Amino acid sequence: MTASPFPHESVTAPVQQAYARYERQAKSWLTGYAQRGGRVFCGAGCSACCTMPIRVSLAEALLMARAVDEAQASAVETHARAAVQNARTARDDDEYVRRHRLELGFCPILDRETGSCSRYEARPTRCRDTYSAFPAHYCEAETWERMSRREQTEYRREVARTPGTDGELHFIAPLEHLSEPVWTAAARAMRREWGLEVWGDFWLLTTLAADARFMAAVAAGDARRAWQVASGRGLAHRMLLEFGE
Ligand code: SF4
Repeated sequence: MTASPFPHESVTAPVQQAYARYERQAKSWLTGYAQRGGRVFCGAGCSACCTMPIRVSLAEALLMARAVDEAQASAVETHARAAVQNARTARDDDEYVRRHRLELGFCPILDRETGSCSRYEARPTRCRDTYSAFPAHYCEAETWERMSRREQTEYRREVARTPGTDGELHFIAPLEHLSEPVWTAAARAMRREWGLEVWGDFWLLTTLAADARFMAAVAAGDARRAWQVASGRGLAHRMLLEFGE
């Protein structure tokens, strides 16, 4: 791997500001939710959702690439390579997600002993805005698939009568909507500084964010060159690496 290309402050600072705004707004929303009798089951030590695929902006990935140590960066790259292999061979999105959760397993940034995110301050938007109104069991891989028909019907009924959900899944919908300004801040900062947007798989972009040649191509607004660099490292896949020009 080439030397770290950090920093790209003009791209990461607006995202950090948007993270801070989101944390304040989410905290205030959660206080009101609790006062209305709502309950959120997420907390330190719960990692049931840390097997999900995660989409991020390169701006967010830069923050994580900066935060991880060498051993974690290597584990993140291994995870990214497994994600690429999964994307190459999965027959459809469902299979991709299922295998990601069951076969790739937990995010390598997770501290398996404590069940906590070891880089909590740098975690991406998707990890910040996912809140569950149901116990962790419902966030685990394959819970839905393992339910009987009766349990699925009961689940749907419970979700429909739980305030804060979208009526279909047990996650708190308003807290996901509240994070939209973070996505917008990332998109604007990338476009302003690089003339293009880069989006994709969390672990793949975290790996590429630490590649000086990739970042030089991105900073020059050269999506084609950036793709070639990713491809040369076996880290290019249309599903996991997207450029918006
Ligand atoms: S970054 Fe942290 S919160 Fe997000 S999936 Fe990885 S371990 Fe979990």
